[in-house]
Amino acid sequence: MALLEIKELTVNYYTLTGVVNAVDKVSLNVEKGEWISVVGESGSGKSTMAYAIIGLVPPPGRIAGGQILLEGRELTSLPPKEMRMVRGRDIGMVFQDPMTSLDPLRRIGHQVAEVLVEHGVAEWDDALEKAKEMLRRVGIPEDRADYYPHQLSGGQRQRVAIAIAMVLRPKLLIADEPTTALDVIVQDTIMDLMEEFKKEGTSIMLITHDLALASERSDRIAVMYAGRLVELGPVDDVVEGSAHPYTQMLLRSVPDLWGPKDIKSIPGFPPDLRNPPSGCRFHPRCPYATSKCSREDPPMVRVGPLHYAACHYAGKLGEEGGG
Ligand code: ATP
Ligand code: SF4
Repeated sequence: MALLEIKELTVNYYTLTGVVNAVDKVSLNVEKGEWISVVGESGSGKSTMAYAIIGLVPPPGRIAGGQILLEGRELTSLPPKEMRMVRGRDIGMVFQDPMTSLDPLRRIGHQVAEVLVEHGVAEWDDALEKAKEMLRRVGIPEDRADYYPHQLSGGQRQRVAIAIAMVLRPKLLIADEPTTALDVIVQDTIMDLMEEFKKEGTSIMLITHDLALASERSDRIAVMYAGRLVELGPVDDVVEGSAHPYTQMLLRSVPDLWGPKDIKSIPGFPPDLRNPPSGCRFHPRCPYATSKCSREDPPMVRVGPLHYAACHYAGKLGEEGGG
């Protein structure tokens, strides 16, 4: 059984100017001990999907359909109190800005210890000792347990956020753009830390707009476009043999992967999800689009043993040119 099964998940934001269909019937599994990266341009629905998994879609958003199963247990219908227990114990989450999860007015050791106390794992004295151990584990010397967040660098703050997310050793760590605000060297050390937890058995879901970063560490890559999952597969299949035109164009826009000479940005803009394009949502920007593409939703089809793409011409482009 997969650790996490997302089935036909739909999440909408009910705004005054219309319904934003941020996630549209996304189905995705996270296996035990794997690192899966969810990539896509800004606004593709990556963060909304992550918030849905931890039961924190911000208003005016709401899960409008589908299921999220953690080891077979349906999360979308759990009462808020039980969902609070799932967060931290079963699923940890780290955000782009560690200050979202850190309290600027409280010492970092207390913030880590609080998770243990809240979940009934330890009393304060014991929890503070365990918090120091956890801080050491993530590379923060224990004599800094009394520091406030502002006394630490951005990279150290993110380490503390990881300590808070991981102190109960959840089965899944969701990291939403955890290194976007950090310089490249610090970025790498944070990724190393996440990889260590993965080796200890934690599944990782990295959410990033950075395909180069995703391709370095992941077992599988899931590509989202305009609220839909458009390609999914082992990292080598997706990076070297991408079957969806959007992924192919995304790859060509990454200098580290394609070489600096041939970088091509994707023409046009992602659609307004209050009124998404009919059929394949990528059709207004796709060089291979046909009239079928604007009429019919492309199903997710298998293009390799573990490799899937949602394109009417997946695996055929280049042979038939998309007809
Ligand atoms: P980013 O990397 O910029 O966060 P993303 O891929 O994570 O992008 P989301 O933030 O999930 O994408 O956004 C998906 C869609 O939902 C976008 O069209 C966005 O404008 C919309 N959206 C996100 N939050 C809200 C909100 N609170 N109210 C209304 N619409 C929202
Ligand atoms: Fe392009 Fe059509 Fe494939 Fe969509 S279904 S990616 S528009 S060829």
